[in-house]
Amino acid sequence: MTDLPTAPALAWGAATDTGRVRTENEDAFVALPMVYGVADGMGGHAAGEIASAIAAGTLRDRLGAGAESVDVVVAAVVEANAAIFQGAHSNVAQRGMGTTLTAMVVLADDTGQRRLAMVNVGDSRTYVMRAGRLRRVTIDHSYVQELVSTGHITEAEARSHPRRNIVTRALGIEPNVRVDTWVLPLVQGDRYVLCSDGLVDEVDDAEILELLLANATPQDAADALVASANEHGGRDNVTVVVVDVLEGDESPSAAVDLDVDLEWDDVQPDRLIDAEAGSAPAMLGDAAAATAVVPVTAAAARRRPGLGALLFGLAVGVIGMLTIVFVLVDRHNADNEPAPTTTTVTSAPSTTSPSTTAPSTTVPSTTAPSATTVTSSTPTPTGP
Ligand code: CA
Repeated sequence: MTDLPTAPALAWGAATDTGRVRTENEDAFVALPMVYGVADGMGGHAAGEIASAIAAGTLRDRLGAGAESVDVVVAAVVEANAAIFQGAHSNVAQRGMGTTLTAMVVLADDTGQRRLAMVNVGDSRTYVMRAGRLRRVTIDHSYVQELVSTGHITEAEARSHPRRNIVTRALGIEPNVRVDTWVLPLVQGDRYVLCSDGLVDEVDDAEILELLLANATPQDAADALVASANEHGGRDNVTVVVVDVLEGDESPSAAVDLDVDLEWDDVQPDRLIDAEAGSAPAMLGDAAAATAVVPVTAAAARRRPGLGALLFGLAVGVIGMLTIVFVLVDRHNADNEPAPTTTTVTSAPSTTSPSTTAPSTTVPSTTAPSATTVTSSTPTPTGP
């Protein structure tokens, strides 16, 4: 086992508020020297509060001393998912509970080099401000994000869209969870912002940047962002964690252009979950679910044609050809020898059921690529 990293010089501040409309705060956060996170719980009867508390507590317990690898961080998220899922299925009052989670953990590899690991599930966000610019690190797993990504609505429209509460991934909804991950260098001067959607639905990115630039300390920045969300209506719980990197392991100039490249190896339709649903997660129709694939970036849109589809097409083609050959041969035989064998001809290979027909030996037996549920998908980590 490698030594855990020594804490880099970070400064942080955090603020959370119920907002102006809700009566309970179902958000939770963690702000410790080595781990920071925001969880936005969902589910009625205070179950959302339980889900987000489990997520935050698991981060604290498992990652409070940092982590040696991204896998360790993902394992903690998977553990939180399982705990929430189990709770939701063993307690009627907690049925359907879930939570988003966006988190940042200090990593150190064998050489002691420290980096930051990010994980995200759901529509809470992590931003980084570098050289006066604000960049989103995470990509929302939400219905409106997909509409934005596919050009159907604008960012501004997304923030007031009636379905902005529909998330496509959350902890606790299914036995497995896919986790987006990134690894970023420690760059002196970077300021990270982790927040729930109660901030970004009220305050646009330009104003978030303005407030980050106007507030020197992370605590003042967190307070100002929460206050701003409330001034804009405060329709949801709002939670903000701000982390400043005071000491960098890499020079800022080498990494001023933070370009986070997002790519998913395995894009499966995500489940649509109503973050405001009081009971079991709402499922939209199949048509809506079919649009819930995450075509977030051009990179993600580069999807390979499915192997299963190719093989199926091949099988159908082969069977079709053989059918024609059989029919022609049979006709030829029938022309030459008027024997009444037409009944056997009609039972020639059917093109509609390739798996049971004669020429199956020409088709490889493996069809679809393994579609096992993934517990983590790893977008390309970004180097300096
Ligand atoms: Ca929320």
